[in-house]
Amino acid sequence: DREVDHASAAGLAALAAAGETTVRVPDYTNLADYLAAGGYKLLSKIRDGSLAVDTLIETMQSAGLRGLGGAGFPAGKKWGFVRSYPGPRLMTINGDEGEPGTFKDRYHLERDPHRTLEGALIAAHAVEAERIYFYMRDEYPAVLHILRTEIAALEAGGLITPGFIELRRGAGAYICGEESAMLESIEGKRGLPRHRPPYIAEVGLFGRPTLNHNVETLWWIRDIVDNGPEWFTGLGKPGFPGLRSWSVSGRVREPGVKLAPAGVTVRELIDEHCGGMAAGHAFKAYLPGGASGGVLPAALGDIPLDFGGELARQGAFVGSHAVVVFSDKDDIREATLNLLRFFEHESCGQCTPCREGTGKLVSLLESRGPIDETAIRDLETVLRDASICGLGQAAPNPVNHLLTHFREELSR
Ligand code: SF4
Repeated sequence: DREVDHASAAGLAALAAAGETTVRVPDYTNLADYLAAGGYKLLSKIRDGSLAVDTLIETMQSAGLRGLGGAGFPAGKKWGFVRSYPGPRLMTINGDEGEPGTFKDRYHLERDPHRTLEGALIAAHAVEAERIYFYMRDEYPAVLHILRTEIAALEAGGLITPGFIELRRGAGAYICGEESAMLESIEGKRGLPRHRPPYIAEVGLFGRPTLNHNVETLWWIRDIVDNGPEWFTGLGKPGFPGLRSWSVSGRVREPGVKLAPAGVTVRELIDEHCGGMAAGHAFKAYLPGGASGGVLPAALGDIPLDFGGELARQGAFVGSHAVVVFSDKDDIREATLNLLRFFEHESCGQCTPCREGTGKLVSLLESRGPIDETAIRDLETVLRDASICGLGQAAPNPVNHLLTHFREELSR
C-alpha cells in the first residue's frame, strides 16, 4: 500500500485542519498495466466497427448478464430499450454502494478500475451516449482517488475526450442508490425517487434517454465479449447462468468478496467459500440480499440464490448479493429492529406510507411484551402497496420473516 493525498490542494488543507491528511490507496491495475495486458483493445474494435454493436448486444443477451446493483434487469435488453428512444442520450454509473453488507463494487474498483471503465465506454458506445456521469459514494475515498487519477489518465492518453466521464460524489444518503433518486442528485436536487413511468431509459438524466448500470455489471462486459457468452453462462449452476461477486459478512470464518456461481446457496458460500462458520458459532439465519432482501432461517439455507425463483416465493430477494450470516449468538428480533431503524432513518420522507410506516414498525417492535401482529401485518400491506419506491416496498421484508420464521424470538 502507499499513502497518498486524496483531495485537491484546498480539500487537503481542510482535511489537514481536521487532522486527517491521507487515505490509504491499495495497489491497483493502473492504465499502463491494463493496456499492457490487452486492455481497451475491445473498445477499439467496437469504435472502429470491426465488432458491430448489434453483435455486441446479441452477445450480452446470450450471456444473460443481469444488472447487479440489485434489480437484475437483463443488461443487453436495457441497451436495446435505451437505443430505441431518440437521442441525445446519456449514461450513468451507479457506484453509490449503500446497501448494508455490500462491498463488491469497492473491491473491484480498488483492484481493477479500468475493467469497469472499459465496460462503461463500451456500453456508452453501444447506446451512443454523449457523456457518462459516474456517481460514486464519498465514503470510499480511495476509490475516488483512483477514479480521479485514472479518468485523467484516459483523457491524457486520448482514449476519451476531456469531460466525457464526469465523476460525481454522493453525500451519504442510501436513497441516492435508487436510480431515479441518483439522477435527481446528479441534477443538483434532493435525492427523491421519481414516479415511473416514464422509465429512465426514455426520460432520464436531464430529461434524456439514459442508460444506468451498476459498477459490477460493467466490470463483466470485457470478459464476456473476450471469452464468449457460453463461457459466462457455463460458470453458473444449471439454470442459473453466470458468475457473481458475493459480499459475505457476519459469523463466517473468512468474510469477504467471493466470486461464486449464480444459484449458489448460503450453505455453499459458508462451507466452500468462507471456510465455514466462525469458531464457536452455529449457523442460525441469514440476509440473502442486504437489509432489503429479508431474513431467512438456516432451515432455508439450501435455496439457490438468484433473482426470482424460490427466493421470491419466500418473500426474499438477492438484490446486490450481500449475504450476512447470523449465528446462535444473535438475536433475530434485535437484528430485525436494527434493519427497520435503518429504513426509518433512510426513508426520504416523500410518501406517507414509508415515512410514517417505517417509524411505526420500529415502535411496534420496540415495545416489549405481546406484539401487535395485526398492526404489523396491516402496515406491511400498506408499505408494499402504496410506497413509491423499493425502499418502502422492501422495508417490511425482515419483519414479515421474523413473524413467519422466528416466532420463538417474539416472546423474549
Ligand atoms: Fe421516499 Fe420511502 Fe417513498 Fe421511497 S418509499 S419515495 S424512500 S418515502
